[in-house]
Amino acid sequence: MSDRKQVVIAGAGPVGMAAALKLAKAGLDVTIFEMGDDLSVDSKASTFHIPTLELCEELGLMDDMLEQGLVVPLFQQRDRKGGVIAQLDLSLLKDETKYPYRLQLEQSKFTRIVRKHLEQYPNAHLVYGSGVASAEDHTDYAVAILNDGTRVECDWLIGCDGANSMVRQSFGFEFPGETFAERFLVMSTTFEFRDVMKDLAEVAYITDPDEWMVLLKTPDHWRCLMAVGPEEADDYAVTDERIQERLNGVLADLGHEHVDFPLVGKSIYRVNQRVAKNFAINRILLAGDSAHMNNPLGGFGMNSGFHDAWSAGDVIEAVELRGADAQKAAQIHGVVRSEVCHSYVQANTKKNFKDMQEKDESARQARNDMLRALQDDVEAQKAYLRGTSMLTSAHEAIARVRSELAALTA
Ligand SMILES: Cc1cc2nc3c(=O)[nH]c(=O)nc-3n(C[C@H](O)[C@H](O)[C@H](O)COP(=O)(O)OP(=O)(O)OC[C@H]3O[C@@H](n4cnc5c(N)ncnc54)[C@H](O)[C@@H]3O)c2cc1C
Repeated sequence: MSDRKQVVIAGAGPVGMAAALKLAKAGLDVTIFEMGDDLSVDSKASTFHIPTLELCEELGLMDDMLEQGLVVPLFQQRDRKGGVIAQLDLSLLKDETKYPYRLQLEQSKFTRIVRKHLEQYPNAHLVYGSGVASAEDHTDYAVAILNDGTRVECDWLIGCDGANSMVRQSFGFEFPGETFAERFLVMSTTFEFRDVMKDLAEVAYITDPDEWMVLLKTPDHWRCLMAVGPEEADDYAVTDERIQERLNGVLADLGHEHVDFPLVGKSIYRVNQRVAKNFAINRILLAGDSAHMNNPLGGFGMNSGFHDAWSAGDVIEAVELRGADAQKAAQIHGVVRSEVCHSYVQANTKKNFKDMQEKDESARQARNDMLRALQDDVEAQKAYLRGTSMLTSAHEAIARVRSELAALTA
């Protein structure tokens, strides 16, 4: 009997774990090699959008996710000094989806939920402390070479090994784009912002030409996101003193007195906008941050990575279970996921970053007028929500992959 594995996944982040569960449920043999000694506990993405929740239902995850997450139908666009610009209501989409809301759930909780479900599948194997150092393409199969030199042959290799993906680098796939001069600072506090902003929704994008901010409620605390200017050193930006100063600056603009914010977490990170030139070569597929990176404004990074995982799973299932041509199927993943990354994820995250800090008064007013008008026009608001929740773009991309794969086996 051959030692060749059916599917190898590099990386047990949210994207690798989602791909593994999808394929394990389809009856395929899956092995995940995770570099770390356990699943990551890093506080990173925390927003699950509608189409991702619909896919999580197909994976049987929703009961656990709802138990641990926070259901958020309302979100606001605010002005730092002027207050609410517009409040948008995802429950308007209740006739179009079972999940007309955002679910706020940290990705470290999500990966643990998926692990619990994966444990039910004897055909799924999660190996810790085993980084994939490089990969080889042999057209009809792939090889993952682990950090200890072990060579693992497989029918399929999915690179879900994050931004510094060794799978991507093994093939010299270019990763063009930019790294922002600003870094992003994520702070978590148990301070109740609604004590000082009585009308605050659980997700609020707070625009300001000088210092924008995002406030996101999670089940345990508020997460605050701000930019750190190019002139400010990382070490200084993350000091408690500097964080207290910045958060109190927000309160001062509202005429509120000084507060000692109880901080339960903080991290600073570099923000990239990048898309790999290739997402697929023969039986090797990229998914998630290994293939594309974006700023977190809008919550599209993990969600679009999840949709990549779904596409990769559909491709492998079409080949292994229904006899589709492997190279053609892999190319469908490469073309569709790359297109949606450019046309939707990159375009919208760049626009969101610009909008948050727009300095041009007339452009800011025009955007605010557009947002206010949505509140009086239900159909226009629904169209806007289908865009911001990724509903339209994700449904179209998933349907396109499926119909192109179906054509290969017709
Ligand atoms: C501080 C921070 C905050 C963020 N906030 C948001 C947010 O609010 N909203 C949003 O949408 N996105 C956010 N993002 C982005 C989001 O977290 C990513 O898009 C998401 O984590 C991508 O998931 P992934 O599984 O592709 O990669 P990762 O989460 O990076 O997981 C990769 C996994 O692979 C493992 N690994 C790495 N290299 C190897 C290797 N060679 N071999 C084997 N295993 C390997 C890692 O240990 C890790 O477990 C944030 C990112 C950061 C850094």
